[in-house]
Amino acid sequence: MNINEIIRKKRDQYELSKEEISFFVSEYSNGNIPDYQMASLLMAIYLNGMSEDEIYNLTIEMAKSGEIIDLSKIEGIKVDKHSTGGIGDKVTLVVLPLVASLGVPIAKMSGRGLGYTQGTIDKLEAINGFRTNLDFNEFISNINDIGISIMGQSEKVAIADKKIYALRDATETVESIPLIASSIMSKKIAAGADKILLEVTFGSGAFMASEERAKLLGEIMVNIGNKVGKETVAVITNMNQPLGRFCGNALEVKEAIDILKGNGEEDVMTVCTWIAAHMLRLAGKGDNIANNIKLIQNQIKNREGLRKLKQLIALQGGDVNVIEYPELLDTASIKLEVPATHRGYVSSINTQEIGNAVVKLGGGRLKKDDEIDKSVGIEVCKKIGDFVEAGETIIIVHANEERKAKSVVGMIQDAYEYSDKEVERYREIVDII
Ligand code: URA
Repeated sequence: MNINEIIRKKRDQYELSKEEISFFVSEYSNGNIPDYQMASLLMAIYLNGMSEDEIYNLTIEMAKSGEIIDLSKIEGIKVDKHSTGGIGDKVTLVVLPLVASLGVPIAKMSGRGLGYTQGTIDKLEAINGFRTNLDFNEFISNINDIGISIMGQSEKVAIADKKIYALRDATETVESIPLIASSIMSKKIAAGADKILLEVTFGSGAFMASEERAKLLGEIMVNIGNKVGKETVAVITNMNQPLGRFCGNALEVKEAIDILKGNGEEDVMTVCTWIAAHMLRLAGKGDNIANNIKLIQNQIKNREGLRKLKQLIALQGGDVNVIEYPELLDTASIKLEVPATHRGYVSSINTQEIGNAVVKLGGGRLKKDDEIDKSVGIEVCKKIGDFVEAGETIIIVHANEERKAKSVVGMIQDAYEYSDKEVERYREIVDII
């Protein structure tokens, strides 16, 4: 097959065959196609899109480029969960112990944060001693023991995706629906679960700017999952403001513990209970979502979700005292209050800028190997629809260096817009696909 011919075909808006996609992905993974030719194909895909068949074939080829995880030693229906990314999104930390406490086996491989998005593995590692680099046998044995384990993403899964993602990052081709769908679904298929729950975010803190594009991405991923025999549901959620109250690793663990004690803010509670309820349905634990929501609320009330998180922390070597005393988690030394620049109703928040502020404080990475400070972050005091007086605190910056704390004040103030008129609060969950 001819490399240039395939690039030319996509450039000129023709559909690529299964064989052409397979050739390109496998030869690129083997190092026989250079980065500049893959970058060129990626830009052609970014500009011209792909048919559903092309996206499906690309997904399968990327899944096949690495190891396919075998979870057959775990009994029961395994349901995976994935978020397309958000700010303050600690849903995984809350939902997985909750559904595990109702007997759904959870075998979760998670990633680290990069850029303004954060990762579950970094958050868990904010707990003193918590090990995420488990050996696969230990991972399986922990799930068989307590029903849940969370470990770092295997380097051997979807190898092509790792190479392609790094190239997309360097060539401004990340925000492409075919490339995002194939990237996520290749990893989900390779991760071995029976069913998949996707949290697809949209808004100023997400890859998808609009609700329409998030729904389209959700539909495409659901179709891919169903086509490979893994029933898939996408929950479309609004990320036009941070989710919950805190953004930052240790701060989000503290908040997740609070949510499991029943003290979560309404927006994050709603998202967590709905996602958990759909995971229960996928796992065959009840078809009625309203009933499932009640079951989940009950697991919060009777602290069974919290107990499951405690078991998970204990088995993976973490300090379980953080459950009773969350103040044991690393805490930043400086708390700087950021005042509102205007009087009025908060009408919008540039959520990506809030994520960027966390990175600037040292709580996120710009490059894969950057060290991060787990204790820093942002506490969101005012959200869309809230009324504020000029000078009132909108955000509290948690930092360890005065210079860094001050450096994010302007960007946070610029991220907020105000209106004289009352602003409607939006729904967190806009659709289930
Ligand atoms: N998350 C992924 O895993 N891949 C993407 O392309 C975007 C978000």
